[in-house]
Amino acid sequence: MSTLEIKGLRAAVGDKEILKGIDLTINSGEVHAIMGPNGAGKSTLSAIIMGKPGYRVLGGSVTLDGVDMLSLHTWERAVAGLHLVMQYPTEVPGVHVDEVLREALKARKRDISGLTATISSEASRINFDAELVSRALNVDLSGGEKKRNETLQLGVLEPKIAILDELDSGLDIDALRDCARRVEAATHENNLGVLAITHYVRLLEELKPDVIHILSAGRIVKSGSPELADILERDGYAAFV
Ligand code: ADP
Ligand code: MG
Repeated sequence: MSTLEIKGLRAAVGDKEILKGIDLTINSGEVHAIMGPNGAGKSTLSAIIMGKPGYRVLGGSVTLDGVDMLSLHTWERAVAGLHLVMQYPTEVPGVHVDEVLREALKARKRDISGLTATISSEASRINFDAELVSRALNVDLSGGEKKRNETLQLGVLEPKIAILDELDSGLDIDALRDCARRVEAATHENNLGVLAITHYVRLLEELKPDVIHILSAGRIVKSGSPELADILERDGYAAFV
């Protein structure tokens, strides 16, 4: 059982305060969705949790099982069990997916003997062309292939908590279903905790969130049951922002 705990988190880009006090607790096996208008700070939140350079933490804390994440390097946070599926996955020429996974598992002191078999079974689960794992990371992949690739990494690495920043952006319906179902399965099979940033109910139909949070102008203005997503889909954010 793991817990990602975000308390009073405030953060800025340059002189602009973007996160103005975020409190959020995500336990193993739980799916929390964050919805909110463009520019609310959703991607900033994911960036701060993972330690993307260029952001300043002004206050508050982010801990995983009581361990301060904000003082760790990004790779140390990943080894600790955090995993970010990026909205726009980075292309890394010259570095192959299987090599990334091998090194990542070594850093976690995990057994790599069955890695090739694990990769092919994970690839087939999400209809990802297994040949792409011996190609450079995300280079020349379609939007859907990139997200399947990110999801494959999640399946192999078995993190404790996954943050999905618009997993659904740039995905066709089939790829969305494959990726979302794989993540949802991990919440049962591996007790994965999920923080899913999204605009769309379609993703949530697959992910089956326990809680929906609305983020607006750097604050969580409402948290509620999954029906909240349907209300947003029907009425928009006006009543909440
Ligand atoms: P969301 O993901 O909710 O659409 P973001 O977290 O991407 O919102 O952005 C929140 C605000 O912070 C926006 O006003 C955006 O322009 C600003 N912002 C985010 N990242 C940067 C950056 N690297 N430089 C300047 N402004 C940024
Ligand atoms: Mg964003």
